[in-house]
Amino acid sequence: MISFENIDFQNKKVFLRVDFNVPLENKKVINDFRIRQTAPTIHKIINNGGSIILVTHIGRPTEGEADPNLSASILIPALESALDMPVKFEKDWIKGVKINKGEVLLCENVRFLKGETSNDLQLAKDMSRLCDIFINEAFSNSHREHASNYGVAQNCKIKAPGPLFLSEIQALNKIIKKNESPSVAIIGGSKISTKTALIRNLSEKVDHLILGGGIANLIIKAQGFQIGQSLFEEAAFKETCRMVKDIDNIIFPVDVICANEFSKMATGTIKYLNEITENDLILDFGPKTLEKIESKLRSAKTILWNGPLGVFEFDNFSYGTKTMAKLIAKSPAFSVAGGGDTIAAIEKFSVSDDISYISTAGGAFLEFLEGKKSPVISILE
Ligand code: AMP
Repeated sequence: MISFENIDFQNKKVFLRVDFNVPLENKKVINDFRIRQTAPTIHKIINNGGSIILVTHIGRPTEGEADPNLSASILIPALESALDMPVKFEKDWIKGVKINKGEVLLCENVRFLKGETSNDLQLAKDMSRLCDIFINEAFSNSHREHASNYGVAQNCKIKAPGPLFLSEIQALNKIIKKNESPSVAIIGGSKISTKTALIRNLSEKVDHLILGGGIANLIIKAQGFQIGQSLFEEAAFKETCRMVKDIDNIIFPVDVICANEFSKMATGTIKYLNEITENDLILDFGPKTLEKIESKLRSAKTILWNGPLGVFEFDNFSYGTKTMAKLIAKSPAFSVAGGGDTIAAIEKFSVSDDISYISTAGGAFLEFLEGKKSPVISILE
């Protein structure tokens, strides 16, 4: 890989692909985290004599149509405030841009262009003609081969991942390539069907695998216990039974917290697995299971966390997720968390400062951990 740090940006136009797909409300940015995160990269390029053509997608507009509610121009106030400098805006940027050394030019939502998501060759060539260097800072979009992150890179001689992109890969590689033992992966959340590839890959890379949330329900049933009215994915049951047979490092639950209705008003009853009845809904792990988890987390040197252990949104069923989040936060292990509702749980239990790396990359984060090699990453090598 060409290193970002070694590139000479002097008098160069840089196509910087970012992911500013941030939450919007009434055409205003309501969370500018991803924008602020990219500011140091932008400053580095500008301070080294470059100029920046900043490209992002926002939402899922119908390709080829401009949707004013998803215009990149909405980002300008937040971007100018994060950078503390003026930012130019160009609607018809693909036809050519006027930009001077030291300037930042934000392009209109790249998904307004026909051919972006199908990686149209001509569109990618047009993009590459605008710049001298391609830098990718949008790891969160790296599981999709689009013109602005893959095709453009194919057509640029000088290309590299930006510092944020690299730090994400380095953190995830510390989990799946060279983790320090004992290593623990916690996979929770509602649906096992979306996580079977992830579970199988991680089971080969880590020492202990903890499967919680709705996923645990299938595991409990696969062991021959009844799960009453609990969330259950019929279509994924056969594969779960195969996984329970094939994988030998799963830490199985021994007790759970049940409710008799799916409601935040419901009260929880702690039950051993053989005490679950046909009217029960399993909504959390019980204290004996948490003791087992604690013993693994206490000695862990590497921890991965994806997905809650229970319905943490309901206070009566947040015990498992909260206890685990606090244990991870207390642990000196290298810890990575991300994907799905994990970030909401991290915020709810105020542990963000004590987790080594928090990924906001969603689908790209999960696919990387599944072991899929993304062409968008390979093209930068
Ligand atoms: P995911 O989007 O797959 O990460 O799933 C997160 C959701 O799973 C959260 O909204 C949790 O409330 C939910 N969840 C966790 N455990 C359970 C459970 N035992 N039953 C139903 N939903 C659950």
